[in-house]
Amino acid sequence: MEIKSCSREELSALMKELGQPAFRAKQVFQWLHRGVESFDEMSNLPKDLRERLKAQYVLTVPQVERKQVSKLDGTIKYLWRLQDGNCVESVLMHYQHGNTICVSCEVGCLMGCAFCASTLGGLVRRLSAGEILDQVIFVQKESGQPIHNIVMMGIGEPLDNFDAVLRFLELVNDPDGVNIGMRHISVSTCGLTDKIDKLASHQLQLTLSVSLHAPDDETRSRLMPVNRSVGVDKLFACCKRYFETTGRRISYEYAMVDGVNDHDWQADLLAKRLKGVPGHVNLIPLNDVRESPLKPSRRVRQFQQRLEQQGVTVTVRRKLGGDIDASCGQLRRKRMEEIQNC
Ligand code: SAH
Repeated sequence: MEIKSCSREELSALMKELGQPAFRAKQVFQWLHRGVESFDEMSNLPKDLRERLKAQYVLTVPQVERKQVSKLDGTIKYLWRLQDGNCVESVLMHYQHGNTICVSCEVGCLMGCAFCASTLGGLVRRLSAGEILDQVIFVQKESGQPIHNIVMMGIGEPLDNFDAVLRFLELVNDPDGVNIGMRHISVSTCGLTDKIDKLASHQLQLTLSVSLHAPDDETRSRLMPVNRSVGVDKLFACCKRYFETTGRRISYEYAMVDGVNDHDWQADLLAKRLKGVPGHVNLIPLNDVRESPLKPSRRVRQFQQRLEQQGVTVTVRRKLGGDIDASCGQLRRKRMEEIQNC
């Protein structure tokens, strides 16, 4: 059993079972979320309790396998080695609105998007809530910099690991732990509609980002296999329900690919689809992935203007960490290749 994935209630039940006073649960919770690396560091717990915990529970401590710091903007990319030897990436970025960490939720990814490096080797396994949380705790600890915002835009599909992600959100939101408010958290999805509906029912104040990347089925299915079973009509209907249930506007991610999804007619169709579904479009200059034939669009500004002329709110994502493999999945792949080659 991994102790950092335990909820407050589970820790309270455990302390009761071990015959401990109720306040011990809070003490253990605080130590865990501060990033202790062994149970022995929990200095205000009785020794026999520490021994019991050590015998029964696993305390995950990710190790820095690689660290890259951008000379351009100070962005830091971490490649973490997990307990079982698998690796995942996290990125720490500095924005005016605070330090933002991009976390991974799976080792690899099932979704098969054509432009994405994370999915090239398929899904290896899903992370536990504690392993997702570890990235926040240990990036904060290792960098010495406080984290203000979290984006779940690293390796993996958050809604494909629904229960662990929900538990992670609950843990990271706790005032006795890392204490990051839901309004400072974004969850990004390729558009798993049944799970978006499920998430809506939890009424969380987080920002949902939907990776759209095309407003028409032909292009979207080409870029994102997930679209073959759902389709853009159903996806937008689902986004509308999400907004109606939660009152939260959706952010639509749109990675611009040369000659594929950057035509004027696609801007017009996107603007049309967004009528009646309040939302905001985030255009992403495509990160070049070596293994992919897709190239970055040269029409980002024109596309932006065409959307704006039709009343759509649009931002263009600033590229950070251009000199370090900051596009998700790239550093992990590089390391895997090195291991295979030696
Ligand atoms: N699986 C989730 C979250 C992880 S990817 C999702 O699909 O949203 C985070 C974002 O980065 C997504 O919008 C994804 O489509 C985008 N992305 C992946 N590879 C990219 C690349 N090479 N260039 C630009 N954006 C990319």
